[in-house]
Amino acid sequence: MSVSLDSVREWDQKDPLANFKQHFALPEGILYLDGNSLGAQPRAAKQAVDDTLDQWRDELIKGWNQGWFDAPERLGNLLAPILGAKKGEVSVTDNITLNIFKLLGYVLGQDTGGRRTVLSEGGNFPTDGYIAQGYCRVSGSEHRFLPEGGDLAEHLEGVAVVVLSQVNYRTGKLRDMAATTQLVHDHGAEVIWDLAHSAGALPIDLNGSGVRYAVGCTYKYLNGGPGAPAFLYVHGNCQGGGWQPLSGWHGHAAPFAFEADYTPASDISRFRTGTHSALTYAALEASLVMWNEVDMQALRAKSLAMSDLFRECLADIFTAHGIEDITPIANQRGSQVSLVDTQNGYAIVQALIARNVIGDYREPGLMRFGFTPLYLSFEDVWQAAQHFREVIESGEYRSPKFHVRGAVT
Ligand SMILES: *Cc1c(COP(=O)(O)O)cnc(C)c1O
Repeated sequence: MSVSLDSVREWDQKDPLANFKQHFALPEGILYLDGNSLGAQPRAAKQAVDDTLDQWRDELIKGWNQGWFDAPERLGNLLAPILGAKKGEVSVTDNITLNIFKLLGYVLGQDTGGRRTVLSEGGNFPTDGYIAQGYCRVSGSEHRFLPEGGDLAEHLEGVAVVVLSQVNYRTGKLRDMAATTQLVHDHGAEVIWDLAHSAGALPIDLNGSGVRYAVGCTYKYLNGGPGAPAFLYVHGNCQGGGWQPLSGWHGHAAPFAFEADYTPASDISRFRTGTHSALTYAALEASLVMWNEVDMQALRAKSLAMSDLFRECLADIFTAHGIEDITPIANQRGSQVSLVDTQNGYAIVQALIARNVIGDYREPGLMRFGFTPLYLSFEDVWQAAQHFREVIESGEYRSPKFHVRGAVT
């Protein structure tokens, strides 16, 4: 290996984020490079969920007035600084899929100058396109795809709204959010940003980038837990726009007035739908309290250093074995390393998992390794690279058992 174990241990000594690792309950012996799919468990989450179970047992329905009901806005405000948003601009609610649907309807329900087209990104995480298509079916709007790698400026004619990911889930490619937002607005369209692979992965400045609408999830880099609620952001100046189409009682101006007709709440709570799970909010809140202590610039520096370390340790292996490193350069990268081997990618990932080095695989041929600075040390990354090297050099991945496909990859 080109970098010595001693030197990475020195980096760990100097790491300003090193203390966060102790706040996570990671199983012994696991090198977890899949925090981009499901983040690890903050120790505080268990206590928080236990406390909420006790609260349910002891307080019964009174719990709703003891923090459960307000959780979407309270957690939104906790999350806001991490996103570069202000208080009152973020709601923690539902999942990304539903939040995109709500924002599409909200934007298209306003004056779009006659434009009815929704553009979504080819090659993006599929749910963004699926729900755009579903929205268009029920609303009579038109859906188009921006071809993968296509020039956005050439595809904005007649477009009312475009859904874009800040970081591509496959390649890890980071878009310039401020410049792209400006470009879309200059063409008279709106953009809904999907921050699934950037929230908690890098510093985000929604207000400073002129962003009006965004969504993202909290179970990836933000460690909210499986099924943790997603978030939705609407700039303060854009909150007077009328209805969102999933007009449920929790988004009503007076939910407990039980009026026959819907009137949207005047603030961010109009983007709620119906009853949420107090338990999932409790786990997420414990994580967000921890996140408020994180220096996002230090996080970014460590994320880039870790992904570079992993690649540097393995550069000779990639060349010798025909593995293509498609990880973008530093300032155009999220927090993952993306490698392509169409022949053996799947088996290599399985062989690594058998060694307790957890990455993931996406067709065709893509091996993804996520780098989460709060609970990975440089030594962890070095050890993971060492395992990768051994799996390749020994030919371990050739074993037939690593070529059998499971249902979830
Ligand atoms: C993970 C991910 C999602 C997940 O959507 P849910 O509705 O929360 O399940 C959506 N979009 C992108 C880009 C993702 O990476």
